[in-house]
Amino acid sequence: MSATLKRCPFCNGEATILVSDDEGNDRNEEYESDPWSGLSFKIGHAHENNEGCPIAKYEEDGGMMGVYLYDSREEAIKAWNTRI
Ligand SMILES: [Zn+2]
Repeated sequence: MSATLKRCPFCNGEATILVSDDEGNDRNEEYESDPWSGLSFKIGHAHENNEGCPIAKYEEDGGMMGVYLYDSREEAIKAWNTRI
C-alpha cells in the first residue's frame, strides 16, 4: 500500500516527497536504499512547477514546504494531507 500526496489546495499542483539525510541535505532516491548519514523526508512544492501558488517555495531555497523533516514517507504524506 502506498499513500499518496494530495494535490495542493491553492494551485492544484503536485507536491512531492524529497529524500534527505538527517541534516536536511537533499539526497536522491538511491540514497534511500543506503542511507549512510541518516534518512529523513521533506515535502517539496516548488514555484518553478506551480506558478502563482501562494505557498510554494523556490527551488533555490530547496523547494521545500516548512522546516520539518519527517522520519518516514508515511509521516510526511500524513502531515501534508492533514494540514490542508
Ligand atoms: Zn500549490
